[in-house]
Amino acid sequence: TDLAHIRNFSIVAHIDHGKSTLADRLIQYTGAVSEREMKEQLLDAMDIERERGITIKANTVRLEYRAKDGETYVLNLIDTPGHVDFAYEVSRSMRAVEGSLLVVDATQGVEAQTLANVYQAIEADHEIVPVLNKIDLPAADPDRVREQIEDVIGIDASDAIEISAKTGQGIEDVLEAIVHRLPAPRGDRDAPLKAMLVDSWYDPYLGVVVMIRVMDGIIRKGDRILMMQTGAKYTVDKLAVLRPKMTDVAELGPGEIGVLTASIKQVRDTRVGDTITHEKRPCAAPLPGFKPAQPVVFCGLFPVDSNDFEALRDAIEKLALNDASFTYEMESSAALGFGFRCGFLGLLHLEVVRDRLEREFDIELITTAPSVVYHVHMKDGTVRELHNPADMPDPTHIDHIEEPRIKATILVPDEYLGDVLKLCQDRRGIQLDLTYAGNRAMVVYDLPLNEVVFDFYDRLKSVTKGYASFDYQLTGYRADNLVKMQILVNGEPVDALSVMVHRDRAEARGRAMVEKLKELIPRHMFKIPIQAAIGGKVIARETIAALRKDVTAKCYGGDVTRKKKLLEKQKAGKKKMRQFGKVEIPQSAFINALKMD
Ligand code: GDP
Ligand code: MG
Repeated sequence: TDLAHIRNFSIVAHIDHGKSTLADRLIQYTGAVSEREMKEQLLDAMDIERERGITIKANTVRLEYRAKDGETYVLNLIDTPGHVDFAYEVSRSMRAVEGSLLVVDATQGVEAQTLANVYQAIEADHEIVPVLNKIDLPAADPDRVREQIEDVIGIDASDAIEISAKTGQGIEDVLEAIVHRLPAPRGDRDAPLKAMLVDSWYDPYLGVVVMIRVMDGIIRKGDRILMMQTGAKYTVDKLAVLRPKMTDVAELGPGEIGVLTASIKQVRDTRVGDTITHEKRPCAAPLPGFKPAQPVVFCGLFPVDSNDFEALRDAIEKLALNDASFTYEMESSAALGFGFRCGFLGLLHLEVVRDRLEREFDIELITTAPSVVYHVHMKDGTVRELHNPADMPDPTHIDHIEEPRIKATILVPDEYLGDVLKLCQDRRGIQLDLTYAGNRAMVVYDLPLNEVVFDFYDRLKSVTKGYASFDYQLTGYRADNLVKMQILVNGEPVDALSVMVHRDRAEARGRAMVEKLKELIPRHMFKIPIQAAIGGKVIARETIAALRKDVTAKCYGGDVTRKKKLLEKQKAGKKKMRQFGKVEIPQSAFINALKMD
């Protein structure tokens, strides 16, 4: 295809504003799939994405559209993930296209992820077409949202397109805008091959599939290629475009987006953002701005039943085939036995992986407290990366500890602003900015990631009745007074409950944790002390009273079926328990003990 007839674009939106629905409508309108094949949210392939309504991996589709000017255009849509954890993937896929549709729910307005994603598009020099969605709803207020887009984002919204992705109203206007308002790609067919690795995934039949955007040159089936960052060399076995079904093509030229296979063993061998060129005639320099995605949140995953360890290993290896950003290594804990220490791009990523393990592989897991990566500066001048509070070196050898900080942007109706400020303040936040757009406030905070990884988002949602939106980016490391707090149950430290805390917040955190545990651990036949301690010093303590009577006693021995049911219920409950010395701790306690109210 000649460059003048290609348009490459992505759709940026806050979660739930209708990105996937719009993508479906565009696919349907251009007839890329038959009615019969059309299922809702075609691009969200994984079940979990579908259920949670979030797009995890970037997807792409090639559409053919005959415009009103009589010409036929090739439109490549790259669907980007909407969540902050995948910001790096978003930024790479943005560089693979020239324009963006900015979808804003006309009943909601601009939200935090709208901002984060549109800034990425602006940074990538995109032409941006604002699209106001859900105008079929009575609550839609397109004029207000137009104004908001201009005030908050600072782009012209006077010719924003009003649509309903649900009913299909306005879809043709969107297609015409893609053709006439977005620029055609540029590139040189005769230059050495330069293509960007946009995404990769594991396909059970094809092996590793790599999605590319060709910048210059031509790639053909059978070519010897070089990945410039990893130095790996391969032969292209298959070259195809996604319509959205994979359709073989002989070559891909400048401006085109497609996929290749090349007998690549694992997704790990492909780096998103890498530059692909020809082995024989490489391009002079790789594409700028490459950085490998780094895990920022770590936690331990242990099977509830230690017999499931091998099954867990298999499951983790299978998952890792398709997700290069997730890291794992074996870990053993005195209390939990064998398991894995896993690293994730963020909290959502952690949740998604844990969910998939439990659901797709049917393994019950204990998840230990999520931890960020600390930099421990030792007195001898060395620096250690601490992924697990249990590995904390002897404090007498530590000079200081640094923790990761983030810049968080929160948008909230001003009636809830006070609660949001208090929450951020409680989490050791430093306010950087506070501005208004209409009756919505935008606050920017510098916060320790550690205070956010656990339940910040849940708390934010609950204090603002769901009206706040939140986005963050890592900014760097800073030293602070950080200590390891241990939890002792019946006198024995339970490593899986150890956390890193700020010294000033340790008493409050410790008290909250032991109080929570007192509720979460069932009574036993004996008294159980629960203590929080720093070094050898106990800073908070609770005691679970001993159980006096058999649980079935209250059935008066009369009703046999009821008694049986109770015993069965107890037995089922047991499966989710874990033995620590003489004490049984329910699986849920490990996560719930950390929630702060
Ligand atoms: P995404 O998270 O941005 O991909 O959003 P989705 O496309 O999954 O849409 C979120 C929800 O909004 C779904 O329940 C859609 O059915 C609904 N939705 C999307 N577009 C429209 C629209 O134009 N009108 C109405 N009424 N609902 C819509
Ligand atoms: Mg979606």
